Amino acid sequence: MERDIYDEDHEAFRDVVKEYIKRYVTNEARERWDAEGEVDRATMRAAGDAGIIGLSVPEEFGGAGMLQDYRFRAIVNEEIIGAGSGSLAGAFGIQDDLAVPYLVHMGTQEQKEKWLPGMATGEIIGALAMTEPGAGSDLRGIKTTAKRAEGGYIVNGAKTFISSGKTADVIVTFVKTGEGNRPDAFSLLLIENGMAGFDHGKKLHKMGFHGHDTAELSFSDVFVPEENLISGKEGMGFVQLMMNLPLERLSIAVAGAAAAQAALGWTVDYTKSREAFGERIIDFQNTRFKLADVATTVDALWAYIDRALLAYKDGRLSAEEAAKIKFWATEREWDVLDTCVQLHGGYGYITEYPIARAFLDARVHRIYGGTNEIMREIVGRQIAGKR
Ligand SMILES: Cc1cc2nc3c(=O)[nH]c(=O)nc-3n(C[C@H](O)[C@H](O)[C@H](O)COP(=O)(O)OP(=O)(O)OC[C@H]3O[C@@H](n4cnc5c(N)ncnc54)[C@H](O)[C@@H]3O)c2cc1C
Repeated sequence: MERDIYDEDHEAFRDVVKEYIKRYVTNEARERWDAEGEVDRATMRAAGDAGIIGLSVPEEFGGAGMLQDYRFRAIVNEEIIGAGSGSLAGAFGIQDDLAVPYLVHMGTQEQKEKWLPGMATGEIIGALAMTEPGAGSDLRGIKTTAKRAEGGYIVNGAKTFISSGKTADVIVTFVKTGEGNRPDAFSLLLIENGMAGFDHGKKLHKMGFHGHDTAELSFSDVFVPEENLISGKEGMGFVQLMMNLPLERLSIAVAGAAAAQAALGWTVDYTKSREAFGERIIDFQNTRFKLADVATTVDALWAYIDRALLAYKDGRLSAEEAAKIKFWATEREWDVLDTCVQLHGGYGYITEYPIARAFLDARVHRIYGGTNEIMREIVGRQIAGKR
């Protein structure tokens, strides 16, 4: 089904992304990111130069100022995932969907001036650290503390599974500034690379997303100046996280649909080129039936997601709607990728093939950004009339 949410500006932007891919998303580059476990800085800077990251950074800070129009980000995901590089799409996503929004929406003027221009050019890498070894779904169970001190806070604790955690220059960090677990006991602090007592820890070895770093972080008596408190207001951290979660969930749904769409394309090509029993794989009725299912699922994914993209643009995408689309889209993505791996036979299991990498990347979509069980919990509570 033809999609109708993109206008000429979006399509012109798509051409820019394609041009970037031609130059920078080569097989050699992808293999290097996978081997090193991270995307190199030159690639991030080139994305800044091309104007395809930092999209929501306001123009006065050197960005594109596309604050609510996530359609541009969707195009970046479609094209980069379509080019077989989920890791690069992941690195861009952390910058644009998880780090930049806290500064744009909630940063003080000084924080914006200090960080946003570099985030738009790709010179500064951002990350978001909420999860801890002992608390993921239950964020109010975190133990990292930020105690008041002369001119700032002393931070102690640890975070884990932090995407871009090894390469980040600045990390929006969820900490406890109060007692107990009431929403006002938490704040967001900007913790900077190089602060004494802050250790980026070790890079974690993952099932997928091999070219994007995920790290453990530790904080041992890290002094964080008062001016690094997001919005300058203590006790707002939980509310601030809740404000950005719909975007994070929409972004995962978009990445899932982009992967499903890419998988369809790769699988059609593959099954046309491979033969068994004297016929092309696509000429078996089973293959065509499976591809018919996949193509229909991809259409349904975009029909749903496109509505959500427009709702987000108009400020109408609620936390519950974002939760629905996140779990539904990532589960359809999983079904599609599994089918497409199967249609590739043994080659579907070999990571030289984009289908195998996309399959490995897809598994975490049902886990991070809030697990799909937590998404169902959010939706179910609303249906039951519980808060
Ligand atoms: C590759 C990767 C990248 C990540 N990037 C980041 C990042 O950049 N920043 C960040 O802060 N975090 C990040 N995370 C962490 C991620 O968001 C968490 O792993 C996720 O929220 C789940 O938390 P957990 O691992 O502690 O699982 P747990 O909360 O321990 O959950 C374990 C199981 O119990 C289920 N469960 C828990 N509570 C309930 C409930 N109430 N009802 C029903 N079932 C429940 C869960 O659904 C899950 O199946 C990342 C994780 C991975 C793997």
